[in-house]
Amino acid sequence: MQVEETKFIKLQCIVCGKSYPPDTHSTCTACGGVLSAEYLLDCAIDLRRKRSMWQFREYLAPIEVSNIVSMEEGWTPIIRAENYARKIGLGSRSLLCKMEGQNPSGSFKDRAASLSVSLARQWKKPGIFLASSGNAAAATAAYCARGGVQCLILFRDDSTLSKLSQIAMYGPYLVRVKDLFKNPDSVLRALQLTQEALPDWMNGFIWAKYNPLILDALKTIAYEIVASGSEPGYVFVPTAGGDLLFGLYKGFRELKTLGQIKEIPKMVVVQGSYPSPTVDAVEGKIEGDAQSEFTLAGALRSDMISDHAIVAIKDSKGFGIKVSNNAILEAHNLVAKTDGIFCEVSSATAFAAISKSIRNGRIQKDETVCSIVTGNGFKDFYPPFNDISQIPLAASPEYMKSVLAKMFS
Ligand SMILES: [Zn+2]
Repeated sequence: MQVEETKFIKLQCIVCGKSYPPDTHSTCTACGGVLSAEYLLDCAIDLRRKRSMWQFREYLAPIEVSNIVSMEEGWTPIIRAENYARKIGLGSRSLLCKMEGQNPSGSFKDRAASLSVSLARQWKKPGIFLASSGNAAAATAAYCARGGVQCLILFRDDSTLSKLSQIAMYGPYLVRVKDLFKNPDSVLRALQLTQEALPDWMNGFIWAKYNPLILDALKTIAYEIVASGSEPGYVFVPTAGGDLLFGLYKGFRELKTLGQIKEIPKMVVVQGSYPSPTVDAVEGKIEGDAQSEFTLAGALRSDMISDHAIVAIKDSKGFGIKVSNNAILEAHNLVAKTDGIFCEVSSATAFAAISKSIRNGRIQKDETVCSIVTGNGFKDFYPPFNDISQIPLAASPEYMKSVLAKMFS
């Protein structure tokens, strides 16, 4: 398909409706609203399974086929967590897990990065820069490497080597920036100064306020959920900037417009104890809540409020929920032990939130619920022991029977 065959119409403000050209890298200049692409919805979307999210390229930004950088991202499995569901009181067939950790670099960000790097090639940008020490950096560096686009990653000065090791493997330029994520202004300032120094490069910060077109890469997750034949009542989304939640909502909304689903699932924003700006905005701050407990869900540590996620939650009649560090660790461990699902610790927030929502009566036990499992376990996890000496030792093979007798007594 050539670029002119896309169904893309324009970028449009989700609040006031003002129109913008496709290469806009900002929010609405009239009202500050997030921009989102409009497509011509004149026939049903073909949901038959193909090899990558680019099956849906008519409903993505206009890009020539020769500029697409792909590693067959998308079409991740949807599996049931039957044992975890039973343990928390849901029906055993009712908890669907969208396994985004099986994307090429191990997270849902690969969809956004594939689109972002393809856009950089379409727009003849020599390089992409972004601020991240997590999944977005790994994904963008991977697709830049593949697409022959230069890549510069800004990350916090106190990032751990383990987080950076995957990113560094793809060979991007790396700069440590002190106080990078101290507040929303500091990261935006660093990106602004980088743009001034590298005026031809693309700001590839994966956030709709800079790159509204990437929402459409994330909406393909919704298409795939519907293509699998499931129509969940609720979708639980671990949330930092809110693009994933809004992208999912947008995909469901397009399918509803076309009559391919009856209802948009209720979108649920999940965050840790602190920071939790989007949940607080939806639910109001709860007095006496453990506000001071800094979440160990590393991918969700964002102070930036997500206006577009709030639009999606309100329109779909969803809600917001916070989960404590203890609840996250418990869910992380339980879903691995009972169903073999090894996700990154930030993804476990959704499992913890589903359990809490059933206990609180916010969702009923006969509902079908989808958990977006955003990242692979190898990204970030807490092993159940720190020292190998905690595991029983047979001093020689001759001791096997006595060690096992003790273990199974
Ligand atoms: Zn506007």
